[in-house]
Amino acid sequence: MTRAQRTVATGRTVPTGHAMAAAEQAVAVLERLPEVERATYAGALRRMCDAVDRVEIVAASTDPGPVVSAFCAMGLIARIDRRDESSATGSTRGGLPIHLHVCRPRRWGAALLHHTGPPEHHLELQQIARHLGYRLAEDGLFDAETTNMVDARTEEHIYRRLGLAYIPPTLRSGAGEIDAALHDSVPTLVDCSNIRGDLHLHPDPALGLAPSARGHDQAIDGSDLWRGLVETARASQYRYLALVDRYVARSPTAWMTMPPDAPARPRPPPVDDSTIFVLRGLEVELGPDGSLECPSGTLDECDVVIASIRSHLDQSPAAMTSRLVRACQNPRVNIINHRTGCLGSARPHLGFDREVVCEAAASTGTALEITALGDRFGPSVEFGQHARGAGVLFSITTDASSAVELSAMRFGVARAQRSWVGPKQVINTWPIAKLRRFLAKGRPVPDARYEHPRADLSGGGEVHAGAP
Ligand SMILES: [Zn+2]
Repeated sequence: MTRAQRTVATGRTVPTGHAMAAAEQAVAVLERLPEVERATYAGALRRMCDAVDRVEIVAASTDPGPVVSAFCAMGLIARIDRRDESSATGSTRGGLPIHLHVCRPRRWGAALLHHTGPPEHHLELQQIARHLGYRLAEDGLFDAETTNMVDARTEEHIYRRLGLAYIPPTLRSGAGEIDAALHDSVPTLVDCSNIRGDLHLHPDPALGLAPSARGHDQAIDGSDLWRGLVETARASQYRYLALVDRYVARSPTAWMTMPPDAPARPRPPPVDDSTIFVLRGLEVELGPDGSLECPSGTLDECDVVIASIRSHLDQSPAAMTSRLVRACQNPRVNIINHRTGCLGSARPHLGFDREVVCEAAASTGTALEITALGDRFGPSVEFGQHARGAGVLFSITTDASSAVELSAMRFGVARAQRSWVGPKQVINTWPIAKLRRFLAKGRPVPDARYEHPRADLSGGGEVHAGAP
């Protein structure tokens, strides 16, 4: 039984990434049917919540019968509990509940809006509709008096009829987004197309992505996996990647790739490819007092330093606050990462003074990391919103060690969107020259750690992409 199956079996939710694979598979099958005009996933998955308890699929068709039949016969469906002429409910082979709703194409927008939810958001829309003399239902927006359908084609049409700007699914929560839409102040959100690089990428000796930390003489060998990674980065229009070693001085936990006595020296460029600028990074355990458990000489060899909080999580709020503030004030720390839970979570042992920590991060040029992959979340959405309001910058990363993991960036971007973060507040949307100035934290920008024959590091411009 996989972790996802166990999670479902115990009645909890599964991480969005697990459910997304099943949802995309179902949508791809439906889209190939001649009867289907369009199909997509909805629900918490479309809102890109951290975890979901079911998969919602919406399809548009003038002939729903064959669509429902095809859905019930899909290989990924293990069981169907209930079906009628336009819907079916069952569970996947992974044990995840799944629901299909087939609507008429002209009612697509209303159906998608309803099934995307959440109920709090839809309820607020219904109240606005009533106020305007409409009735908003699953199958359309209707005139309350004549009961004639006013609109249902697209979500955009319905929002507009209600006097609202379009609200992206990741913002829909019933927590202020409708008020923002009423006042035409829905923020411009960071998008995957804005991302220019990944600043947290682990060279994994086992995968041949990078030289073994225990054998730094060994050059990165340009293996297929590394090429795949670069191809994925290039396909995403990335301009830079940070290869990050993990450094732990004396922790008993086995998450170290660079031993304390490893010589800190530059490595050769990983591939003969100047379209991707490679930064050298180090992930260091943040000590209980906020100090970095790493020699300063090693830190000096790095372009980007990520301070990770993985131990001493039961500190008092006062101790955790001063620990985080000291980390921000360290001129070597660029990014703070919290991998064992949500930074700013309601759990008491992770308590700290948010105002003080956000002020320290914003004023010192220290970014908070939002991690894309599975259970390695960074700040909670709520804390992210608070930090954004306080002017804190973010780094959205995957912590990946393979090409597949690198493509998980969309989950991190969605987390940032849910915190209402815009592209300018994300340091890895910036051009390389601006990013390197930020990472230097007031010091002179160092020479490139790797050779980049065609990279233009002068001025505020871009790294040259592609062949001259
Ligand atoms: Zn890491």
